[in-house]
This record gives sequence, C-alpha cells and structure tokens, in this order.
Amino acid sequence: MRVLIGGGSGFVGRELIRLLRNKGHEVTVISRQPGPGKITWGELESSGLPPCEGAVNLAGENLMNPLRWWNESYKKDLFSSRIDTTKTLAQAIAASSSPPHSWVLVSGVACYQPSLTAEYTEDSEWSPFDLLSRLVKEWEASALLPENVAKNTKQVVIRPGAVLGRDGGAMKQMLLPFWLGLGGTLGSGTQPFPWIHVSDLAGIIAHALEPPADTPSPSAQVLNGVSPALNTNYEFTKELGRLLRRPTIFPVPGFVMNAFMGSERAVVLTQGQKVIPKRTLEAGFQYKYPDLTSALKEIVGS
Ligand code: NDP
Repeated sequence: MRVLIGGGSGFVGRELIRLLRNKGHEVTVISRQPGPGKITWGELESSGLPPCEGAVNLAGENLMNPLRWWNESYKKDLFSSRIDTTKTLAQAIAASSSPPHSWVLVSGVACYQPSLTAEYTEDSEWSPFDLLSRLVKEWEASALLPENVAKNTKQVVIRPGAVLGRDGGAMKQMLLPFWLGLGGTLGSGTQPFPWIHVSDLAGIIAHALEPPADTPSPSAQVLNGVSPALNTNYEFTKELGRLLRRPTIFPVPGFVMNAFMGSERAVVLTQGQKVIPKRTLEAGFQYKYPDLTSALKEIVGS
C-alpha cells in the first residue's frame, strides 16, 4: 500500500514510517520543507493528491513547544497548523479521481472533560468546554469528507492520550528532571493520566489504514488511542522514579504549572480523563505495552 503522511517527519510519524516500511508499504511525507521522500503542502495543493491507498494527518504545532511563550499567536498556530493541513489533505482526497481507501486523522483526548470519576469511551457524547476541546471539535470537523467520497474512503479519527516514547513527546522533556531526582507529581497527582506507547499508537494507525471490510460509513469511526490501563499522574510518577531508581519527592503545584504554561494548556497535565479504548479493543488491536511498567521499561531501558 502507498501511504501519504502529513507531518510524518515528527515523533509519531517516524515510528509509523518504521512500522509501515517494515510491513512493506511505501511512504510519502507531506512537510513544510521539501526533501527526499517528501512533498510540500503547497505541492499537494497545486498538483493534487499523489497516488495512494492510505492517508494520515499528524501535522501540528507542538502543544508543549518549550521555545514558545503561551500567547495568542501560539494558540492561533496550534489551530491553523492542524485545521489548515487537515482541510488541505481532506480536500485533495475529495478532489482525487482515485481517492485512498482509508483516511486517518490523529487528534486528541482533550475533547473529554477532565474528571476524577467519569469514564469515557468512543461512544461518549461531548461538546466543547474549553480551548483545547474547541480545537479538537474544529480539527475533527475539518477532516470530514463529502458523502459521495466517504462511500469509498473509510474515515478514522484516533484520539491519543500523552504519547510515551524515547525520541519525543512528553518523555523527552521529563526524563532529565527525573534523572536528576527532581521529578514529582504534577498538581494533585490524583488526576487520571491517559497515555499510550508510541509504538502502540503507530500500530493503531496502521490498523486503521487497512482496507475497509464493508462499505465505509459517511461519518468517521473514532478509536481512543490510549492504553487500557487506567493510571493516575501519581502512579506514572512513582513508576518512572522506581524504574530510574530516583526519588520523586518534588511535586509541582497546579498554580505553578498554570503560571508557567498557561492554565489553558497546563490542563493536559494537571487534570485528566479516564479514557477507555473500547472500540480499539473491540477492533482486535493487540497492545505491545498495555501497562505502565512494560511501556516505561522499554523507554528507560531498565
Ligand atoms: P510533532 O510535534 O512531532 O509534529 C509533527 C509534525 O507537524 C512536525 O514534524 C512538522 O512537520 C509538523 N508541524 C509542526 N509545526 C507545524 C506548523 N506550525 N504548521 C504545519 N506543520 C507543522 O507531533 P507528534 O508526532 O508528537 O504528534 C502527531 C499528532 O498527534 C499531532 O497532531 C499531535 O497534536 C497529536 N497528539 C500528540 C500527542 C503527543 O503526546 N505527542 C498527544 C496527543 C495528540 P514538518 O516540519 O515536516 O512540516
């Protein structure tokens, strides 16, 4: 299968490309920069969709970019980098004379309202309640294909929690303080911490790219991209400290996180949701790292 991946040069994309190539698939990345094995977003707009059987969008300004201050311009980029690229790819699919059989958008669990008790599956109703949930709403809406195209192209939205892996994402920024023995719970620590190992997320995307068994439905199928283990931030912190053999005695209070990161963004760390991958499991997906110990052992190598 030939797969086109918007934002495929990033943390999740690199893992997905490794997996797809190992399975014998061909990959082309859509990027802001030209290069071998890549096309640019401008080329996609001007020349249309290259021949492909699967398409994925992973592009987006990093929510935890340490080089940027949390301000209106950053928030605008978070929205436009996701919505404009998703729209461009969806429009190219819709305009293609031979659209791919699968179109996958990777969004996020920020659509589910943080709660210590509520449990969310893909069937849970939700409506936007803050900045990041508004982003998910607009982002997922921008991926929808017109009905005549959706008859032939399966649409899948995958909502990952924090993606854990050695080469990027949250772990990249967390490992140093934890190594130095400066790690600790964030906020109260009792908040749920939905997470997934990057290799399992790549596996779920590859699973979603498989050709549809039946006639695709006009709406997108949603898969929660989280591990089935329901953990709290406290459990994550203690397990990471245990595997690194480092103390985790420096909690970071919620108000400090809000002051440094902006409360609209800090919410992803200081609050959380119990997210259940009901349909992902029903779809028969087998996790390589279903629990924190196996996932963190792979990452920290102990
Ligand atoms: P990355 O931060 O690694 O970014 C992916 C790619 O997006 C980059 O390689 C870059 O490609 C492109 N990109 C970055 N900024 C912009 C911009 N301003 N405009 C257009 N393109 C841009 O993302 P991840 O791989 O970590 O995540 C993939 C997707 O999954 C993202 O949409 C993210 O929101 C979502 N997600 C990730 C989570 C995580 O923990 N990592 C958690 C939940 C959701 P290039 O430079 O080649 O153009």
